[in-house]
This record gives sequence, structure tokens and C-alpha cells, in this order.
Amino acid sequence: MSYNFLKTPIEYLKGVGPKRGELLRKELGIFTFDQLLTYYPYRYIDRSKFFKINEINSDSAYIQLKGYISGAQIVGQKRGRRLSAKFSDGTGTIELLWFQGIKWVQDKFKPDVEYVVFGKPSVFNNKYNIAHPEVEAVGSEDESLSETLQPFYSSTEKLSSRGLGNKAIGKLTKALALRSVGEIKETLSEEIIQKLKLIPKEEAVLNIHFPKNTEILQKAKARLKFEELFYIQLRLLQHKINRFEKSKGHNFSTVGEHLNRFFQEKLPFELTGAQKRVIKEIRKDMGSGKQMNRLLQGDVGSGKTLVALMNMLIAIDNGFQTCLMAPTEVLANQHFKTIVKFLEGLNIKAELLTGSTKAAARKVIHADLLSGELKILIGTHALIEDTVQFKNLGLVVIDEQHRFGVAQRAKMWKKNTIPPHVLVMTATPIPRTLAMTLYGDLDLSIIDELPPGRKPIKTAHYYDSKRLKLFGFMRDQIKQGRQIYIVYPLIKESEKLDLKDLQDGYESISRAFPLPDYAVSVVHGKMKAPEKEYEMQRFIKGETQIMVSTTVIEVGIDVPNASVMVIENAERFGLSQLHQLRGRVGRGAEQSYCILMSDVKLTSDGKKRMETMVRTTDGFEIAEADLKLRGPGDMQGTQQSGVLDLHIADIVKDEKILKYARNLATEILTEDQKLELPKNAKLRTQLIEQFKNKPDWGLIS
Ligand code: ADP
Ligand code: MG
Repeated sequence: MSYNFLKTPIEYLKGVGPKRGELLRKELGIFTFDQLLTYYPYRYIDRSKFFKINEINSDSAYIQLKGYISGAQIVGQKRGRRLSAKFSDGTGTIELLWFQGIKWVQDKFKPDVEYVVFGKPSVFNNKYNIAHPEVEAVGSEDESLSETLQPFYSSTEKLSSRGLGNKAIGKLTKALALRSVGEIKETLSEEIIQKLKLIPKEEAVLNIHFPKNTEILQKAKARLKFEELFYIQLRLLQHKINRFEKSKGHNFSTVGEHLNRFFQEKLPFELTGAQKRVIKEIRKDMGSGKQMNRLLQGDVGSGKTLVALMNMLIAIDNGFQTCLMAPTEVLANQHFKTIVKFLEGLNIKAELLTGSTKAAARKVIHADLLSGELKILIGTHALIEDTVQFKNLGLVVIDEQHRFGVAQRAKMWKKNTIPPHVLVMTATPIPRTLAMTLYGDLDLSIIDELPPGRKPIKTAHYYDSKRLKLFGFMRDQIKQGRQIYIVYPLIKESEKLDLKDLQDGYESISRAFPLPDYAVSVVHGKMKAPEKEYEMQRFIKGETQIMVSTTVIEVGIDVPNASVMVIENAERFGLSQLHQLRGRVGRGAEQSYCILMSDVKLTSDGKKRMETMVRTTDGFEIAEADLKLRGPGDMQGTQQSGVLDLHIADIVKDEKILKYARNLATEILTEDQKLELPKNAKLRTQLIEQFKNKPDWGLIS
């Protein structure tokens, strides 16, 4: 065939047509034949294998049972309303449950018909049940899909209602796969296939859709997963090399007076080993003549600000200006104060620029930046404005990277002909596997050590019924002179409800901790900035002992005397957020505490989150656990990154394949940077082909 069969628009596939074609495009993003071929099943059931009810155990995954359904009835009210039915197979009985589509299912089952039920058992009240099982009368199975390993394709409500449910998609795909024999080209080089003993592409595609047996299915999966991850890594790494080759950067070659003096006279403590290592990494970058683009990860309190400051001093010693950008005014203020204090007596001019900076002060700052007299500028988004022009900006430090968009960062660069070095700091540790994919083209520095002498925060999980005990503990802490945060969740969809929770909470706290012995601050998102600032300041100055707030205090606020963090409805927070919140305490010399308050009813994920928080304070461990619980889809930064575009690989479950793919990609590019060797020709073509329509995702620069 001269034209590319696999690029045929999807509506030309037999059984699709214009209307369904439109739906497939809209609902699943499938435009062409080859895209349908990469729409892989999300699971398979072994149609030859039936379980018995008495074989079910807590590890049971999706299983298939055969038996009779009886006693379907609606139970419960409102959100708990559900259809419940008994399912028996002679060895036992299990409950089947439907929370949605009750009407539709209710009258469907006949007592004398034998059914095949497919689903995942879970435990409730010490009994097993299956929620939303797939049910099919024995004998009614679709003959055309009678493989032993039946694939399952995810569909959408819209597609199902137009006859494109799981089975229909399966049929289309199977027909297409069979017609595509001879058209599916090999996408990996002979060398890689030999080395990893992979099966050919075509065999993999056919077997992923209708596997002959479990063994070949595993091989097909392995092959397709590897390929997917490998090309992403190849691309990221090539991008990194290209950028490095092309980029020009300021060469900070001198270690000068300011840094030396700071080190000798100002540094009040010994740097941790991790801080030393990271400073070395950054310095090497900034002295390479290439532009640095580095992500600095470190848990809250690991001393990132100090690392940033020392690098800023290096820039200044080399005759450059630097700036530090923070996501909020409170944070910018705090950084400013910290840095000014560190710099006392060093004769380095630093200023603060935020939305609140008055016009007159602003003018002076602009002028001093242009003359070069102002060496350090700290601020918020205000730094990005076009009116802010530097004489020679050498280093940009960005705190809490996820709050800034890519476009904003790009703007900072343009403030110089030679772009400044960029150091992005984040306190939200990213699991290594995710970082590899998300920031695979960036350089990564990790501070994995806290300054010595910190007492680990003690964390406890209380059910709401223990509130009196909580209050007792709080009184005790306040008596010892400590301050306390109480945080309420704020989730966009139910902002009103959350606000009410917070107000109720505030009132009950005010009652339990009344004036004049106690004073309580309250801060939430609906307050005006000056009002917020006033309440925060009262707490910072120690005029109030308790701060009731929504998650606005999540980022960066530093009150060393606050030693207790109470998180209400803790089950409603994600792990990384809980960890961030906990990081607000434990900054002073005193023993600090974090108390997670929750409802008694917890989902198993909720329970795991609480347990993880109580067990560990290690941000990386928490990030890993978070990734495992939620999957990459909900992790910060993944939305725009393409991590979610993965068709078959899973960066959590396929960590080993990912690491292998990255190593191999590195190896290949080390030998053949531009993929010019004949043996790599296929890789090169494939790379161009795969990514020609994709924007540069995952790139921080
Ligand atoms: P991060 O920005 O990573 O959350 P900070 O830079 O704000 O952490 O540091 C937290 C606190 O620890 C600050 O008060 C800082 O002065 C202090 N600190 C930083 N490095 C050290 C160190 N090596 N030894 C002792 N204290 C340190
Ligand atoms: Mg910080």
C-alpha cells in the first residue's frame, strides 16, 4: 500500500462512520486507525477461570464467579441509598451492590437464571461484597469475543449510550488489528530488541488486544511499556543535551569577598552535608559557562533558603544582580526579613517588591536596579512586570515552583541577553520516578538531611470523639507558652460549606478558649488582604495563641513559637498537603506536635494516609506513598506534563522498566548524541514521528 493505512481517519473504519467517528474523537481523542490500536485494554479476565465464593480473601483482585442472584432490594437513604442483592454459588453468599443506575439494574435479574458475575470484592462490616459488578447471564456471552482472556476497554457514558461500550470497542479494535497485519512497523532498533529479548511490535499489538495466553500477554505488555517509557526518556535526555549545547550562561568563576565574609562572620551554624553537596552542584553549574536550570528539592526546614542565599552571594561576587521570587506576599516578606538579617553589616543592598509597594518606593527600586546599585530584589509576581529591568541579572531563584507558570518563568529569562541562571526550589518532594519523567530534562539537587538537633514532630491521629482530650492538650501547651494552628480544609467545590465548617470551628474554639485568658486569630480566603495581614500579624507577634485558618497558611509562614498543628477533617487532605501543613511547626527548639482529627468513618485510603503521617516525617517517603495511593494523575504538576498521556506504562508500577529505559536511553545518547549511527536510524525516525505534534511538555524552561 502506498498510503499509510494506519493514518486513515477513524470514521473510515468499518462499523464507525461519521457520527461515531466524531464521538471517538471527542470522547477518547481517537482520530486515526493507529490511535485506536494504541487504545489498550485496561484489564483482562480469564474467561476460563471461575472462583468460588468461599475462596475469596482480602487479597482477591478482580474475579469471576458463577451463581444465582436473589433478594434485590433498595436499602439506605440519600447518599447511602443503594441496591443490594444476594449472590450465592453453593459455597457461600456475597452481597452485590449498586449505588448508581439502581432503577436500571433492579428488575434485570431473574431468580432462575445462572449468572456470571465479575468484579472486585471488598470488605465491609467483616463481610465481602462486590460493588457495581458486571453481570451476564450464562450462555449469553458474545461469541465473537470468546477468547479465554477477554480484554476490557474503558468507555464513557456517552459512548456506551451510542453503542460504543467496552465490547463494541473490543470488536472494532480486533477487526482493525487483524486488518493491520503487515502494516504495523517495528519501532525499536534490532539491537534493543535483541538485547532485551523483546517480541516484535506487531506481535505485541495483536496480543495486547486479543492475547493467545497469559504468557504472551505479559510479553506484549512488557514490550509496549518499555517502548513507551524509552521514547519519553530518549526525548527528555536529548532535549537536555541540546539545551546544554546551545545554551550560553554567565560564568561565575570567582569565589569572592561577600561569600567568604558571610561564611566566616555570618553563618551561625555548620552547613549540613546535604547543603554542602548541593551548593557544590550549583556552583559547578554556574561556573560552566552554560545556563543553569536546576530544581532544588528539600523538605520543609531543610535549609533551602540559606542555600539560595549563598548562591546569590556568588552571583553578586561575580558582579551580577540576583532576585528571589516567592508565590505570596507573606512569603516574600519573610524571605526579605531573613535575608536582610543574614546580610547585616555586609553592605549589600536588598529591596522588597510586591503588589503593596508604593509607587514612590517602586520608582527608586527601578532606578537602583538599572544603575546596578541594588543587588538583591525579593518579591512576588511583581518582579515579572516589564517595568522591572535589571542592569545585569545573573541568577533567579524561584521558591515553590508549582505556583508559577512556565510562561512567567520564561519572562524572567528575557530580562537579559544572556539568560540568568535559574534555581527553582520546592518543598514538595517529588518521587524519583515522577521527577524522572516530569523533570527528566532538568538537573536535580536534593537536600535529604535536616539540620541537626531538630526534634522530629510527634504526630497523632484522633477521632472527633476525642475533642475534649485535644482541648486539654491545647490548654496545656498554651500554658507552656506555645502557640497553635488549627487548619480546616478548603476545597473549591464546596467553598461555602468549608467556610461554614471553619466558622463553626472558630466559634467553638472561642467558646472553649475564651477571652481574656486566650485570644484566637482567624484567617480565610474570603477575607480582604489587610484584614488577613492584621490577623496573621497578631499571631506572629504572639498576641493570639491560636490561629484558626484554612490552608492559606500552608505555604511558608514561619512562627517558631507555634508548636502544635491541629488539622481538622484531616481525611479530606492529600498526603503531600498534610505534610506541608505539618511543616509549619517544628521550627523552634520546642517539641512540636501534629494532631490529625478525623471522622471515625474512613476510607481505606484515608486510613493509610493517617497511618503514613503518624509513621513518618520523611517527605520523600510520604511523596512515594502519595504517588502509590493516588496515582500520578493527582500529583502536583502532572496535569500539563504528559505523564498522563501514557497509554500502557505506569510510572509507579513500572518503576523498574522506567529506570531501565532511562539508563538505556542515556547509554545510547552517550555513544551517539544525535542518533546518527545506522543502528540508531529507527530510533531517530521514531522520535521525530512520535513527538512532531506534541508541545514541549515537562520542560520547566
Ligand atoms: P526551607 O526553606 O528549606 O524550608 P529554611 O531555609 O527556611 O528551610 O531553614 C529553616 C531553618 O533552619 C531556618 O531558621 C534556618 O536558619 C535554619 N537552618 C538552615 N540551615 C541550617 C543548618 N545547617 N543548621 C542549623 N540550622 C539551619
Ligand atoms: Mg523556605
